[in-house]
Amino acid sequence: MELFWHDACLEHDTGEGLWELPGRWEWLDAPEPHPENAARLRTFRHALTHGPVAPHLTWSTGRFATDEELARVHSDAYLAHVYKACHAGERVSLETNTVVGPGSWDAIRAAAGTALAAWEAVESGRTRLAYALVRPPGHHAQRSLADGYCMVNNAALVAETARRAGRRVAVLDWDVHHGNGTQDVFRDAEDVLTVSVHMRHGPWGVNHKQTGGPEESDGANLNIELSLGAGDTAYHRALTEVALPAIRAHGADFLVCASGFDGSAFDPNGRHNLTAAGYRGIGREVAALDLPTVLTQEGGYLRGYAALCLHALVEGLVGTGPLLDDPLAYVPDETRLVDRDLARAVTGRAARDRA
Ligand SMILES: [Zn+2]
Repeated sequence: MELFWHDACLEHDTGEGLWELPGRWEWLDAPEPHPENAARLRTFRHALTHGPVAPHLTWSTGRFATDEELARVHSDAYLAHVYKACHAGERVSLETNTVVGPGSWDAIRAAAGTALAAWEAVESGRTRLAYALVRPPGHHAQRSLADGYCMVNNAALVAETARRAGRRVAVLDWDVHHGNGTQDVFRDAEDVLTVSVHMRHGPWGVNHKQTGGPEESDGANLNIELSLGAGDTAYHRALTEVALPAIRAHGADFLVCASGFDGSAFDPNGRHNLTAAGYRGIGREVAALDLPTVLTQEGGYLRGYAALCLHALVEGLVGTGPLLDDPLAYVPDETRLVDRDLARAVTGRAARDRA
């Protein structure tokens, strides 16, 4: 498995404030770093270069995306808007919790280009599994809207590039939040299947109108909303009973995974309860699909535990047994709502297809 990295991804400085909300809060003694920060990505890399899975991995340097490449999934006017905001000379908010500053444009181009470098490695046959360990994340970025810490949709860019190369593409997103940006980019593309497994959180704010519910599913989009509290069993069943059969039925010959770790039991931005073992299982299940695959890094904000979950996912992807213990897996697995959640996902999509 080949990992892709670019130092410029660290130059996107999101500052501090009240968690994800930037600025000075007079009543708050010690502000917190924005959750989507450079330290989390450095921690993820360190886990994979110093953890026991390290001998199974090779590392390559990514590249910057070109303007033409970014325009494959975003409008020119939107890209000009983001560019201008990044060059305003100070940190500015594109929407409530999505900020950019002086280093952000290079980071955005590096994240997108490094995801494309991962695609190029898979397309050339050099590797079958490539992981773009990048930030800022992308899966909330829509054609012409920034949202949820995301400016450019790295996963969608890989999917669109593969599609133009003649691949039949599926996107699988297990970030705890709905992959609304990817859904938006491929809303009218029946040949690209987008699948998102996420917690039921509904729309948020003017830049996030999508519900993430089964009412937005159709033949080429599948939303699998899991109730708050869902954990390892729910994700295992969502993948093996609904998501992966849909990807096989689509006839995909190339897979893009939007890989988030904010579904963990300890993530401040999610209300799901995955453990490292759950992520190891996701890795095994994706590997069992046996498709050429590019993964892009999305969320995951309690950086130590997210790094452990990334390590476990990679163990699953490369097929080792468990290599790291999980000292924090003590939250009980909630399974009572899984049958209902999966039935809603399947029947909602079928109803849309008949309409
Ligand atoms: Zn997320």
